[in-house]
Formats: sequence, structure tokens, C-alpha cells
Amino acid sequence: MEHNTKVPETGAYPHPYPQQPPPQYTPNMQYSANLPPQYTPNPAQPAVITQQPVHVVHVHQTAPVVGPQPTMVVCANCHTNVLTRMEYEASTRTHLVALICCLFGLFPCAALPYCIESCQNGNHYCPACGAFVGTYVG
Ligand SMILES: [Zn+2]
Repeated sequence: MEHNTKVPETGAYPHPYPQQPPPQYTPNMQYSANLPPQYTPNPAQPAVITQQPVHVVHVHQTAPVVGPQPTMVVCANCHTNVLTRMEYEASTRTHLVALICCLFGLFPCAALPYCIESCQNGNHYCPACGAFVGTYVG
């Protein structure tokens, strides 16, 4: 009787190293056709801010409107309703007309604008106090 108790070596257990295959890399060669919608930049439209400055212009007409003739005004100095006294004064236009007359050889006419009241500025003065009222530029 032979007891061949031969224990099979079952301990020899091959441990195969689990060769984990690398994760299958499938490069996405096909570029996604789903392109993002083409961005069409809006033409820059700057907000036009029309800020209108508030200009409240108060026109204080200090000098009364005077004409080529003596005018009834209220003197700003003595506050009297007076008829202005006029004095004519040669203005720039007077000299200009005289110069033009000289250029055209009209020397006798050169002195004419100085005699014509309409070619001169009319200064209005208050006959009561002598204050200057205004000038009429003819
Ligand atoms: Zn006056």
C-alpha cells in the first residue's frame, strides 16, 4: 500500500500580470462638422449721445434800439423819456467809401461820405444828462 499522497502543488499559481491593454485611443480624426455658428460681429455702432447743452441765453438788451433819426428812448442814466440828440461820427464804412472814391479817382467824392449822415454812425445822446444812449450804424 503505497500512499502516495502527493499533494499536487496547486500553490504554484501563475500570476499572470494582467496586461491591461492601454485604453484604446481613437483619435478623433474627423473634425466635428458641427462648427459653431459663424460669429458675425455687429458693426460697431457707437451709441450716439446727443447731449445738447442747455444754453439759456438771456439777451439783455441794455442799449435801446435807435434809428437813424432822433429816437424817443428812456434814458438809462436819468430814466427820463427823452428824444435823443444825435451826433454823427465817421465810421469805418465812411473811410472805406472815401478810400474807394480815391481809388477810382473821384477825389471830390472822397469827402462826400463825411457829409452824408447815412454813411456815418449816428450816436444818440440823452439831451437831459448827456449820457450815451446808443449808436445807429448806418
Ligand atoms: Zn439822461
